[in-house]
Amino acid sequence: MNYYSTNHKAPTATLEKAVIKGLAEDKGLYMPERIKPLPQEFFDNIENLSFQEIAYAVADCFFGEDVDADSLKHIVYDTLQFDCPVVKVTDNIYTLELFHGPTLAFKDVGARFMARLLQYFLRKEKEAGCCCADDNSEVNVLVATSGDTGSAVANGFLGVDGIHVYVLYPKGKVSPIQECQFTTLGQNITAIEIDGVFDDCQALVKSAFMDSELNAAMKLTSANSINVARFLPQAFYYFNAYARMKRLGLADNLVMCVPSGNFGNICSALFGKRMGLPVKRFVAANNANDIFYNYLQTGEYHPKASVQTIANAMDVGDPSNFARIYELYKADHAAVCADISGATYKDAEIAETMKACYNTTGYVLDPHGACGYQALSDLLQPGEIGVFCETAHPAKFKETVDNILSTDIEIPARLLAFMEGKKCSVPLPKDYETFRTFLLKEKA
Ligand SMILES: *Cc1c(COP(=O)(O)O)cnc(C)c1O
Repeated sequence: MNYYSTNHKAPTATLEKAVIKGLAEDKGLYMPERIKPLPQEFFDNIENLSFQEIAYAVADCFFGEDVDADSLKHIVYDTLQFDCPVVKVTDNIYTLELFHGPTLAFKDVGARFMARLLQYFLRKEKEAGCCCADDNSEVNVLVATSGDTGSAVANGFLGVDGIHVYVLYPKGKVSPIQECQFTTLGQNITAIEIDGVFDDCQALVKSAFMDSELNAAMKLTSANSINVARFLPQAFYYFNAYARMKRLGLADNLVMCVPSGNFGNICSALFGKRMGLPVKRFVAANNANDIFYNYLQTGEYHPKASVQTIANAMDVGDPSNFARIYELYKADHAAVCADISGATYKDAEIAETMKACYNTTGYVLDPHGACGYQALSDLLQPGEIGVFCETAHPAKFKETVDNILSTDIEIPARLLAFMEGKKCSVPLPKDYETFRTFLLKEKA
């Protein structure tokens, strides 16, 4: 299957190229030329299938033409070695816990899947004795992070041969729990502590991608949700959630709510709907960064500088995947509004929600999931059942959660294990020349 650019000015690409390059030449995002629906029998029987079986059927629609069946199955099964349960919170609101992976956030699935698919294509190139001048050199993944992305990508790519990951993070701006998840790994993961803020890290990564001399000297790619191999596999979650709700006899009037930042996660769910997933409608829950919410209200998209919130993984002022949603709905605002409604919450409201939910149900929300829970509480119609994504384990935001709820929540053993490792990172200033020299020296 070929992939075209949302800017429509670049040639179409194979899956292999789309995964290795990440972004199209015209800076657009890659979209599959077709979205294959799953047959009705699949949905009739879905409640009897395991998470891995469901995910493989979905992956086969996306990637089956381009990856042989055994390899694809292996990649899916390797990625999904944990559970993804739905948990009842109130009579009509359930949560889909997406935080049972290695770094306790939903990005684990996309990161691991992308690492394995990239490895698959690199091996194939090597076997074919490929053309590229420098074909034994590693692929270098550059990723800027304010916390969650870096940990998921570093752990997803850990130990994958032929790929080296550089995680750039702002000094003193990442919580200690998050920092230890990408600074203690070693092997093919290098953490770089930039003396600056997140935007400086992102600017360095962008400059590196635009530096043609550097790109000639080393293979560079990105691992954020612009990459099709990272965002599409997130659709597995929604098919699995539907299966779980169907098992409970609650799948007829489903509303799914996704706390959103860059809109990669919800975009994968919308692809799921195109493939026939019987979800009635979706809700995009935002923090104070209300760009998408405003688009739904007005039909106009105006990116803004992001504002800092306690749900910081959603602090995005110009969500990349808006371009994909726009393309999916052929720019038809009414069609977007028919499938998706929006909600936006300020920090004080998020904190109130966390307290109210904890006091009435005992469920501990993290600040991101809290936006989802509140959006369903505000927007569910009579007869509808809502499922919101809990996108991270509350312990990842322990300080914030404990402050708001006056709790001392337990840190899962998996997180504690990271905290016992030895922190190792390379301190660098925020200027591009120093970063570039560092990368070239690493390569030499
Ligand atoms: C990344 C992230 C989000 C936002 O997901 P998008 O795909 O960028 O919309 C929400 N919550 C948490 C905890 C995250 O890490």
